[in-house]
Formats: sequence, structure tokens, C-alpha cells
Amino acid sequence: MTMEFEVVKGDITRFQADAIVNAANKYLEHGGGVAYAIAKAAAGNVAEYIRISKEAMKKQLGKDHIEHGEVVVTPAMRLERHGIRHVIHTVGPYCGGTWDEDRKDKLRKAILGALRKADELGVKSIAFPAISAGIYGCPLEEVVKTFRETVEEFSKEAKSVEKVYLVLYSEESYRKALEVLNG
Ligand code: ADP
Repeated sequence: MTMEFEVVKGDITRFQADAIVNAANKYLEHGGGVAYAIAKAAAGNVAEYIRISKEAMKKQLGKDHIEHGEVVVTPAMRLERHGIRHVIHTVGPYCGGTWDEDRKDKLRKAILGALRKADELGVKSIAFPAISAGIYGCPLEEVVKTFRETVEEFSKEAKSVEKVYLVLYSEESYRKALEVLNG
């Protein structure tokens, strides 16, 4: 399977892909950052999307939190107008400005978990935000490199997923990401 990886600039809540990924926290609280934006755009009401997410987590995993690599799927609701069918919640590592092999492995697991779930759902295109590069404080350059490596690793097993987008929100982060990939 040939799989493409592309870095784009934009708002993931307006992006057209079969599935989008949320950089969630382990309790799916959607309190800030991209999680809040997705919850608001999907349900109109953030508290309502948190309720839906927690219920889905209980059903799909039988518990009230997710580990790195575990994912929960929720309906796209209002995001369906952009063609989005699923929201896949995954949790990346907390870095607070530092980076090491353990954090890299947790991020790799978070990305791979979402990609495998997308494949299982028959998704062709999937869009990710820069997981852990916001409130969780991981260096964007390392996050982008980990995305590239993990997508490459996943391409060997992919059955349905053909296109993976990494959506950067700001012009600055977009430029940095391009530098990492092209430089
Ligand atoms: P984390 O806690 O995993 O770091 P954040 O939500 O704080 O998650 O940030 C992850 C990345 O998502 C950051 O680079 C942030 O700028 C970006 N982001 C925030 N809102 C959006 C959005 N609407 N679309 C795409 N990316 C976004």
C-alpha cells in the first residue's frame, strides 16, 4: 500500500478527512487546546462531548482513562458537514520542554494506535494535530520527526489508510514542520 504523509496548515475542525484525531488527555476532559476546539465544533457544547466521550470510553475500553496507545472513537456530529466520519482520541506524552526516548515511544504509540484504529474503521484519509506540541510542551521538531517515522512504520501494515495529514495551526509551526521534513 502506498501511503502519503503531508504537512498542511489549518484548523483541524475544518479539515476534510474521513477521520480526525484529537490530542486528548487521559480522562477525555477536552478542557483546552485542540481538544476543546474539536469538542465545541463537533457537539456545539463541550460538556456534552465530554459526556459522549466518557461513555464511549467506558463502552470501548471498559474503564475511565486511556493509556498511550489506547484510543476511543466518537461520532463526528456537526463535523460531518466537512465529511469527517470519526473522531479518534489518543493521548500523547507530557514533556514540559524536555524530550527523551521514553516520551518519543509514548508519542509513537499514541500515533500508531490512532492509525491502526483508522485502518480498522476503513478510513482512507486521516488528519492529526501536532499531538503533545501544545499544552504538553514537547518540542515541535521532535513531534514532527516522530510523526514521519511512525507513519513510515505504519505504511508497511496499512490496508485502508492512504493519506495522513499533519495539520499545523499556526504559520510559525507550519514553517518549522516543513523545515524538519525538507531540511
Ligand atoms: P497537547 O496537550 O497534546 O499538547 P494541545 O491541544 O495543547 O495538545 O496542542 C496540540 C497542538 O494542536 C498544538 O500545536 C496547538 O497549536 C494545535 N492546535 C490547537 N488548536 C488547533 C486546531 N483547531 N487545529 C489544529 N491544531 C490545533
